[in-house]
Amino acid sequence: MSHHPRPKFTYLGHATVRCDLPGGEVVLIDPWVNGNPACPEHLKEIDRLDAVLITHAHFDHIGDAVELCKRHKPKKVVANFEICTWLESKGVEGCSAMNLGGCQEVLDLQVTMVRADHSCGISDGDQILYGGSASGYFVKLPGGYTFYHAGDTALFSDMQLLGEMYRPELAFLPIGDLFTMDPHQAARACRFLGVRHVIPIHWGTFPLLTGTPEKLRQALGDHGTACEVVRLNPGESY
Ligand SMILES: [Zn+2]
Repeated sequence: MSHHPRPKFTYLGHATVRCDLPGGEVVLIDPWVNGNPACPEHLKEIDRLDAVLITHAHFDHIGDAVELCKRHKPKKVVANFEICTWLESKGVEGCSAMNLGGCQEVLDLQVTMVRADHSCGISDGDQILYGGSASGYFVKLPGGYTFYHAGDTALFSDMQLLGEMYRPELAFLPIGDLFTMDPHQAARACRFLGVRHVIPIHWGTFPLLTGTPEKLRQALGDHGTACEVVRLNPGESY
């Protein structure tokens, strides 16, 4: 495990993660705050926002992107090309489009967009617009500390390759089942990625999401994988 500077991660519920960087900047991954039933009231008011990373266009990931970006004007709003074009059409500035396999500098982070096996339609009124590919991100800090936010995804064996290439220490993985991986698949993902710590996301928000951190812990034990589940309830930090 590296002893390089790492962010403070605060789980805002569902798939939304606030990263307070060592330099004080705030990065929000999948900004769904006000409409997010899991987000504690006192964390809905974001005091500062320097960058936003968006994994895909479903409402439970970009629900507050337009409003928050217009209010705080973060330096960079990162998403795929289709989502960025849509955000710009809604008046969002600072969009910095990318696509799968690409890397760009965001503040002093190296951000790589990787595939997620999921859909990515943009709900606009009663229409669903084409939103490109769903994604996840590997984020590397100065000094080398690297974490992975998988977005919404099924299990895919390229996670092993990505783990070898980017060597993340921590992964945020969905475990809720139905729309994403379940705990068993997530346990296999932990082994593929080679992470020491996993923070489960996309669970508990709705009754439909049945995966739990306890089931992930059990599955990791069954797989004999040495990876620690860091259970964060909404509002808790790591
Ligand atoms: Zn989704």
